[in-house]
Amino acid sequence: MVFRSHMDAALAEARAAATRGEVPVGAVVVAPSGAVVARAGNRTRELSDPTAHAEMLALRAACAAAGSDRLPGHDLYVTLEPCPMCAAAISFARVARVYYGAADPKSGGVAQGPRVFSHPQCHHVPEVYDGIGAEAASALLTGFFRERR
Ligand SMILES: [Zn+2]
Repeated sequence: MVFRSHMDAALAEARAAATRGEVPVGAVVVAPSGAVVARAGNRTRELSDPTAHAEMLALRAACAAAGSDRLPGHDLYVTLEPCPMCAAAISFARVARVYYGAADPKSGGVAQGPRVFSHPQCHHVPEVYDGIGAEAASALLTGFFRERR
């Protein structure tokens, strides 16, 4: 099967989040069949929920659709390096592969900070591919926070 990136769909979710006044991060979950089964952007402000990160919402929707708390063989695309909470949830959900865009030195938990997937207590480690669409993802974030100041 030919590899097809779904980062464009995640970036579209990030842009939609920005128009809602949310931090522009988007995520997409792809089933082993190649079908997109969930897509989401940040909704922490709208839902008054500090856990409503794009990855959490996409994982919840994908799990609900699958009728399972585990998503073996699934891929998750997210525009920004997952935070420690989302990285833990990705591990709990047994996601097979994580593709992320921009690195997040401030709040990331994969390549920096707690490095959740490298921790001995992490029972499922997905394959991780970083820097996919990183420029577009960080341009969105930079533009968003510049407007806020
Ligand atoms: Zn997160």
